[in-house]
Amino acid sequence: MNATTRPHGVVVEPGTFVVEHRVAQIDVPDGWALIDICSVGLCGTDYHIFEGKHPFLEYPRVIGHELSGRLAADAGGFTKGDLVVINPYLSCGTCHSCSRGKPNCCTNIEVLGVHRDGGMTPQIAVPISNLIRADGLSPQQAAMVEFLAIGAHAVNRSRIQHGDKVLVTGVGPIGIGVALFARLRGADVSLLDVSQERLSAVQSAFNFPEGSTSVAGAVGAGNGFDVVFDATGHQRAIEAGFAAVAFGGTYVLVSVVKETVTFSDPEFHKREMTLVGSRNALQSDFDWVLSAIKAGDIDTDALCSAQMPLDQLPDRMKALAENRGSLIKVIITLGE
Ligand SMILES: [Zn+2]
Ligand SMILES: [Zn+2]
Repeated sequence: MNATTRPHGVVVEPGTFVVEHRVAQIDVPDGWALIDICSVGLCGTDYHIFEGKHPFLEYPRVIGHELSGRLAADAGGFTKGDLVVINPYLSCGTCHSCSRGKPNCCTNIEVLGVHRDGGMTPQIAVPISNLIRADGLSPQQAAMVEFLAIGAHAVNRSRIQHGDKVLVTGVGPIGIGVALFARLRGADVSLLDVSQERLSAVQSAFNFPEGSTSVAGAVGAGNGFDVVFDATGHQRAIEAGFAAVAFGGTYVLVSVVKETVTFSDPEFHKREMTLVGSRNALQSDFDWVLSAIKAGDIDTDALCSAQMPLDQLPDRMKALAENRGSLIKVIITLGE
């Protein structure tokens, strides 16, 4: 029990982000732990919430779902001060998908910072089962694990094989994560983005071969790609991506759009294409990301575009949202 005033990063309504000093009484139910938040990553979801583009969001909302922190007290095998990544997907454990080992698509899922208040505040309580040890990482690196786990999950969903030709369309943070983990699996990865500027920046930062700005350019005279990942967030781009899939290949939809996606059934059928959805991430995906960062396989310095304390965010949120095409990850620091 603790009733001091704490700052909270709140989207009050679309277009208005403030730091609100709230008297927060934090309950810590059985099986939960109190966490001192260290770093919070900003992502497309946060910008969508800020812009009022999120499909089902209730305002006001404390944002923040890409979270690292330290145990505020011993709990469930953790010791006070231990650095953890918080898995922000609170699943029910009893629904159909949970009982089949897929809490990432729990039908009652509550994502911190989306369905319920998030972690852009110095202290929150979360279920102990949602904590993942992050020793060996910096708090900033630990805050990048969640968004990278989305990419790692997509790669795991794709059943990629060593040497597969892979195309990643849309090289925002999620697409970059997909590309990095596909490459770690031994795939031959090509990138596609409508922005040549962004494509060039990502290619040089992460040492990928020259990419393309169109499906036709990416496929060229070749047979297409064994696995295509869509991370564009655009209906037309998702539809265009079907043509990049090789015969016998797989198309993984990582991004989500609100429109209906259509495709040519004969083209789909003659390829015997596998169409795969990929949502959130599983514990095993988080584990893969953590070990890859520890092994030095992920250049987290190149992923972090900017860092700032929470009190600077109200003045900068609008500009960050508008310029997000030229940013990868912005990290908000609340503690060390
Ligand atoms: Zn995110
Ligand atoms: Zn469930």
